[in-house]
Amino acid sequence: MELAKEIQEFLLDDALERFIRYVKIWTTSDQSKEITPSTKNQLDLGKQLVGELKELNLENIVQDEYGFVYAYLPPSKDFEKVQPIGLLAHLDTSPSVSGKDVKPVIHKNYDGEPIKYAQDKELTLTFHDSPNLEGYIGLDIITSEGDTLLGADDKAGIAEIMTACNAWSKFNNLKHGPIYICFTPDEEIGIGIDKVDKNKLPEICYTVDGGEIGQLEYECFDAWLAQIKFKGLSIHPGHAKNKMINAIQIASRFFSELPEAESPEHTEEREGYYHLGEMEGKSEETTARMIIRDFVLENNQKRMDYIKSLKQTYELRYPGLKIEIDFKHQYLNMLEYIEKKPLTVELAKRSIEKAGLEVKINPIRGGTDGARLSTQGIVTPNIFTGGQLFHSRKEFIPTLALQKAAEVLIYLAHLWTQQK
Ligand SMILES: [Zn+2]
Repeated sequence: MELAKEIQEFLLDDALERFIRYVKIWTTSDQSKEITPSTKNQLDLGKQLVGELKELNLENIVQDEYGFVYAYLPPSKDFEKVQPIGLLAHLDTSPSVSGKDVKPVIHKNYDGEPIKYAQDKELTLTFHDSPNLEGYIGLDIITSEGDTLLGADDKAGIAEIMTACNAWSKFNNLKHGPIYICFTPDEEIGIGIDKVDKNKLPEICYTVDGGEIGQLEYECFDAWLAQIKFKGLSIHPGHAKNKMINAIQIASRFFSELPEAESPEHTEEREGYYHLGEMEGKSEETTARMIIRDFVLENNQKRMDYIKSLKQTYELRYPGLKIEIDFKHQYLNMLEYIEKKPLTVELAKRSIEKAGLEVKINPIRGGTDGARLSTQGIVTPNIFTGGQLFHSRKEFIPTLALQKAAEVLIYLAHLWTQQK
């Protein structure tokens, strides 16, 4: 199957119109809230999508109490037995930059000169910010006015999925198996997916939440959180000789033993790290929280063993000191789950190629909702949206990306119909 020019044009117009509409709805999530959704306005976008999904003739459309939107697209005739797939995107935008009153601007026929912003005269977008921009000369680029993020992360993903649904409902020749749609809250604060109803998702899903055009991600960090408590003994400093056990002083000595080269600020690509993020306390007691990251579980285990050996050394060096360590596994590298279902990735690669794009595979130096789902048995690689410089006032997306990502989803669904 090849997509006719008429369908490609339809995809561009439809996805662009939706994208411009969705980014104007304020859906910033809030890290400080422990409820789901963390902000009520994510429900506004969800509600609107429920109405639009009805118009596109999807079935079983619900918005649940947590703000998840679920819908089901029945298969084309004679493709009832095809492997069902799920398509996911998130409703919220990052709390790191304002997402209120986003005013999208389309810079037509980008000429390679610095892009300027109406709301911030100092701000520019250049090749220095994103070397990919050079490849986008001649395309239309969407940015904000420079006072907010754009929200391509992840409203581009939502628009691309909705447009694919629209195309499936309009063009009978676009064959597909059963498709489950799920729009999720609070991805940016890392807790939304905890409330997902896994019964409403098939075993193979894709998040549409990646970056540059052509990108496919199916490997992420193996992630641990360490909480380390130092219990000392406080004494009046004037009479403390041979008695005081200064927990906070000892803690700072303890963390200075970690290799500086293995820190976020000195690592990239496939290198792992320790990251001390928080330390709070007094001489009596001090608590520190640290994250440990690597693509290889064994490397993280070595880091944890090193921390345990430091505990022994320090408890010997300071009699009376107690160090309590609690390691929590946050998420696994999804690669090992995805490798059990290699077709999931293989067909995604082929769909990207069918859309005329180069496949770009990157390991994610972080986690995704897909990583969490993968470890729970729902294999979920991440497909590009085409947006870039996420969580920034310089966030942008070429309009062509909206069309291309929708094409990829349509090819992907069609390729699944051809598997036995
Ligand atoms: Zn995202």
